[in-house]
Amino acid sequence: AKISHNNQKYFFFDSDLSEKVQKKHSLEVMLKNSNFDKEFKLYYQPQYRTSDNKLVGMEALLRWIHPEEGFISPADFIPIAEETGIIFSLGEWVINQAMCQAKAWNQKYNMDLQVGINISPLQIENSDFVNRIRQKIHDEDIKPEWIDIEITEGVAMSSQVSMEEIFSGLANIGISISIDDFGTGYSSLSYIKRFDIDRLKIAKELIDNIAEDKNTLLIVKAIIMMARGMGLKTIAEGVEDSNQLEILKVLECDEIQGYIFGRPVPPEIFELEHIDKTIHSSN
Ligand code: C2E
Ligand code: MG
Ligand code: MG
Ligand code: MG
Repeated sequence: AKISHNNQKYFFFDSDLSEKVQKKHSLEVMLKNSNFDKEFKLYYQPQYRTSDNKLVGMEALLRWIHPEEGFISPADFIPIAEETGIIFSLGEWVINQAMCQAKAWNQKYNMDLQVGINISPLQIENSDFVNRIRQKIHDEDIKPEWIDIEITEGVAMSSQVSMEEIFSGLANIGISISIDDFGTGYSSLSYIKRFDIDRLKIAKELIDNIAEDKNTLLIVKAIIMMARGMGLKTIAEGVEDSNQLEILKVLECDEIQGYIFGRPVPPEIFELEHIDKTIHSSN
């Protein structure tokens, strides 16, 4: 960025910034014109139980494969979907897809896999959110225990609406609630006792350093012990290597998600690489 001085006024010429603004604008236009069914796809990443290495569920992760631009990261388009309000229809699409997929697999294989669905704060703040979930579960004949709603830590803190009500509404339906990226941000531990939640997803940022940094190890250990004391499950996110895995086993972290067990993959591949394998190894 260049700064020029002219009669005590400062002008900023930031070419990087204007490039960013343009890129953002074109993403906005592309998003508004997108056909969800054609351009979006949910990938699934497995979640394994630490005690017996059993597949217990999968997180649904949204992928945008634009016909011209190719792969666009959710980190880039989710914020824009939120700003433009597209997140409401896109989020609805995600919920429908994920629920149908969980049902299809659980019926086909006679399992009770749980699908984790990422929910934007805006979606959950909508006063109708709980009722719409309840309705969908009823209409589609879905077992509530197949569904896990992932909400990031900050959300529960900053929201205007009564989060207590929303969380207890979801808990009453019987679906589970996970706090995503737990341990980052301005963590206030107090709200996990205020809200009826089921699971803490320990942030990748912590897992990344667990084998090298003693303080991080102590933090993760404290999170797991506290969660256990409060009757919450723990899942570690972004586990990549066997050192991390061994530590998490010693700490008795309940579940593991990360490249070490599998990347997010399209449903066809998930079925082959994770479900089929589970079925065959248990027979
Ligand atoms: P998240 O919910 O915390 O998802 C975990 C992210 O970590 C995913 O990135 C996943 O691919 C990545 N990951 C998992 N294991 C590993 C690992 O071992 N190593 C590394 N390096 N990365 C790992 P992804 O798919 O790019 O998603 C990024 C974020 O976008 C998500 O973070 C979530 O906040 C958001 N997102 C994704 N799908 C949706 C959606 O359907 N709705 C909403 N509202 N947000 C979504
Ligand atoms: Mg998540
Ligand atoms: Mg996360
Ligand atoms: Mg509960």
